[in-house]
Amino acid sequence: MKKAVLMCTCSFACPSMKDIDFGELSERIRMELPKDYMLLHPRLCEEDAEQMLEDLLKEGVYYVTPACKEEKQKKLLRDGFERAGVQMNSNWKPVSISFKTTDQAFEDIKTALEEV
Ligand code: SF4
Repeated sequence: MKKAVLMCTCSFACPSMKDIDFGELSERIRMELPKDYMLLHPRLCEEDAEQMLEDLLKEGVYYVTPACKEEKQKKLLRDGFERAGVQMNSNWKPVSISFKTTDQAFEDIKTALEEV
């Protein structure tokens, strides 16, 4: 199974992500972690992102999504996965990067990828 990281930056404005340098984090993910590709998006839970997920997501890829709290992601990303016809329970792993530093977020994303 392929692995992909779809990271949501919450418009680069969420107070809970103020300690994350998304430029550094995305480049470290790209360069240092074992995955097939990564994508950075400012608002994965909005309508245009759901359209993107509908076009992008497919079976045979495991999606790790660094974003807000896991329970919140489950509700907010559900429609995009549904529209793509991809099962969240078998193809998706959320990672909460709320209230994390760049280093903490990187380590949690690394762990999630290793667990796939
Ligand atoms: S999915 Fe979560 S992190 Fe992304 S924009 Fe929506 S609330 Fe913010």
